Amino acid sequence: MQQESNLRYTQYHLTHPIPDENHIENVFESFITEYKQFRMNVPIGCITDKCSKKQKEKIDLSLFCGAGGYLYLYLRIYEFVKGLSSEMQQKCTKGLSDQELSEFYNPETFLQLALRQYQALQIEIKKDSNISFFMSSSTIYLLGTDLFYYMKDKENFKKCTMEVLSSFSEIVAQPEKYEQELLYGIPGYLYNLLRLHKKYSNEQDPYQLDLSSHVHTLCQIICKFVGKDVMKCDFHNRQYFGAVHGILGVIQMLLLSYETCKEYFHLKNEQGLLEMLDSIQKTLDQLIKLYYQNGNIPSSIQNLNNLKLYQFCHGISGAIAPLLKAYQIFNKQDYLDAAIHMSENLYKFGMIKKGFGLCHGIPGNSYGFMQLYRLMGNEKQRQYAYQFLQYKKNVYVYNEIKNFPFNDRYLIEVSDQPFSLMIGSVGDMCAMMDFIDYKGMPGFEI
Ligand SMILES: [Zn+2]
Repeated sequence: MQQESNLRYTQYHLTHPIPDENHIENVFESFITEYKQFRMNVPIGCITDKCSKKQKEKIDLSLFCGAGGYLYLYLRIYEFVKGLSSEMQQKCTKGLSDQELSEFYNPETFLQLALRQYQALQIEIKKDSNISFFMSSSTIYLLGTDLFYYMKDKENFKKCTMEVLSSFSEIVAQPEKYEQELLYGIPGYLYNLLRLHKKYSNEQDPYQLDLSSHVHTLCQIICKFVGKDVMKCDFHNRQYFGAVHGILGVIQMLLLSYETCKEYFHLKNEQGLLEMLDSIQKTLDQLIKLYYQNGNIPSSIQNLNNLKLYQFCHGISGAIAPLLKAYQIFNKQDYLDAAIHMSENLYKFGMIKKGFGLCHGIPGNSYGFMQLYRLMGNEKQRQYAYQFLQYKKNVYVYNEIKNFPFNDRYLIEVSDQPFSLMIGSVGDMCAMMDFIDYKGMPGFEI
């Protein structure tokens, strides 16, 4: 286990937790604070990455750090408002005036915002070389399918699904052209198809969409590249372990694929399936071993001593979801035990001074606790998530974050893309909504 003193520079140990009360009410209030900030700063139809003032803004439609995240937010709030029970709505009122309340709990408000945001983005879409959920501008079409499904606009729904599927044949024709990690690669495109399949495979015509065969084909391609036995994920000449560039992200997509299209997988290639499931287990077993030896999962095989990253993109924070999925599929207690053990370490070291966002921020780490809570119903995990989601209300934590001279940061005190999905407040808001009514981590769960 690495010396804790080395970690103190990048980690904040939570010695002053905030009062542990009124979870839902307080998280909702934080959400509304963020949402009002967002609306004050990001005009509807904005197509730039809305950077810090010291940077030049540029057109960026990606969900990772660009304007795609704004559309994601409006749709996510629409789903949140539409799905919230009246009992929960009574609890979730803090921060809104009476007039704001009636507007907020009218789902149509957010559908219209989403439509206007979509229209502004859609005319800017150009064919790009990116294919993944997080990076490709064609993800706007993926979100368009949801938008037009909610609006019962079957023409545009069809058009959007065709656009999403149009990359499939190019990928199958030349898979070696693409990476095999989540942020840029084929697993990141597979996520789009899994989302569509999960949502629309049981729908009625004209909204019905069965993508089992597409999903299966992509899994076969991915398995060919990551290899048998212990899987390896090469990205820029490194074999990363984490969720964003590494094998944990790949495993999460393979497990989601198997779970979502189980019958088809068994029917199509039983031998290949057994090999895939076997490799997944061997890889997870090896990662768990590394974890127990070190107290974290290193960033890559080339950098086994780099154990200081406790964030979704590198380290144990991105390991909890795949381990829990593997536990459910293989019924292997080791996976659950490891996930629980990791959550304690994540609580200890995961209050990172980088602070903002999902990719390498505190709200991203809160998902590990929420995922465990969903499965186990353990109140402690919920309290952990609560503490992490209230990081801006904790003066001790927030001061550390605001003053942390993070090398990659353009401007101390705020996030680089302050209103983005993965680096900024849109991600924070998603985590807060998930705390109240869980739907899944963006780009990682379906
Ligand atoms: Zn990151």
